[in-house]
Amino acid sequence: MAAASPLTPHASLPRSKQSCSVAVVGAGAAGLAAARELLREGHTPVVFEQGSQPGGIWMYDERTDADPLGERDTRRRAHSSMYRGLRTNLPRELMGFGDFPFTPAGMAAAGAASADARRFPSHGEVLAYLRAFAARHDLERHVRFGARVTRAAPVWSSSSGQQEGNGVGTASDACGDGEPVVAGCGPRWAVTFEVEAEGGRVEQQQQLPWKVVPFPQFELQARLVARVLSGRAALPSRSAMAAEMDKFYAGLREAGVPPKWTHMMDVRQWEYNNWLITQAGCPQPLPAWRGDMYAATGRNKRAHPDDYRDHWDDTSSLEEAQEELAALVEGLRGSQEQGPAGSISSDADAANGTPAAISVCT
Ligand SMILES: Cc1cc2nc3c(=O)[nH]c(=O)nc-3n(C[C@H](O)[C@H](O)[C@H](O)COP(=O)(O)OP(=O)(O)OC[C@H]3O[C@@H](n4cnc5c(N)ncnc54)[C@H](O)[C@@H]3O)c2cc1C
Repeated sequence: MAAASPLTPHASLPRSKQSCSVAVVGAGAAGLAAARELLREGHTPVVFEQGSQPGGIWMYDERTDADPLGERDTRRRAHSSMYRGLRTNLPRELMGFGDFPFTPAGMAAAGAASADARRFPSHGEVLAYLRAFAARHDLERHVRFGARVTRAAPVWSSSSGQQEGNGVGTASDACGDGEPVVAGCGPRWAVTFEVEAEGGRVEQQQQLPWKVVPFPQFELQARLVARVLSGRAALPSRSAMAAEMDKFYAGLREAGVPPKWTHMMDVRQWEYNNWLITQAGCPQPLPAWRGDMYAATGRNKRAHPDDYRDHWDDTSSLEEAQEELAALVEGLRGSQEQGPAGSISSDADAANGTPAAISVCT
């Protein structure tokens, strides 16, 4: 049996109860992860991307170097804060999606070329990785390029009209009345929401974490949303969530944490990620090396801001990571021979024996 990461889904859950057409905003890392998870759950995503290619912020545009805010030529405004010399600030072992290692071997197993094998590679390597992920899961055919979303309305108010509920309505509400929307349109919208919210805290909105490892967290969030929409997972009731948030805010107040840091996760991200895993039906928590490597990178960055990308001291977590990722690459190689792992559900994955479906938590 091929190895699997705890980030791969639980294959033994019952089949999806229902599928819906879901609008996804943006084809950056979050939108691609959302499309993949929706497909895996048997839904039909339609990704609206204002640009002409997938990759979002990792699409470097040299115009941003000369005109960082895109102010000079509004007809050719660039949606990117990438600059020529940017290298990642997280190690690649941590950054990648759960069953598609962001390593040269992982990329090669999916038929993509790596041009920068460093642990903290350049932006071009991340873009190549995201495109390999999109190709592997045949995601581009679900993307409408050149389509800018200008308005989206909450699905729960249009369908259920209930006071009690979980914020996305019941699965039949969500699927039955308009397209549910998953926003993967990058940090710019998040900032807009934050500016509008009192004290920098976004009430009733928990999708804006920062100081996190984004790609795998996007994946876990999207998986839970996909499963809630299909009826295979359930969120707590609205009142239970409100009570939980009151408790959480009270805890922050007691600890003297100002509202603007409400969504700053840092060490809390691991507990949150594991909660997402559990809610989606998989009891296996993330391995400890992820938290250890994240913490070690942070310490190293603070101690050696100029060269933390080229000198590190997280040997033991790196060894554990390499072992897990190498096993996943083996699985990828096997499944590559069987064709792209695209729009098949996890149950179909299980039947085919591809690593996307083989979960250590069955
Ligand atoms: C300078 C910088 C360095 C970073 N370094 C790292 C790092 O080292 N490691 C790491 O993991 N993360 C890093 N990040 C975080 C990075 O933002 C995330 O990794 C991730 O790429 C964000 O993905 P996203 O899909 O949310 O947003 P984006 O990549 O911004 O994608 C959003 C997409 O939505 C589209 N879009 C936006 N609005 C609309 C609309 N109205 N209609 C249609 N389409 C729309 C955009 O065109 C874009 O393609 C960095 C971020 C920045 C700014």
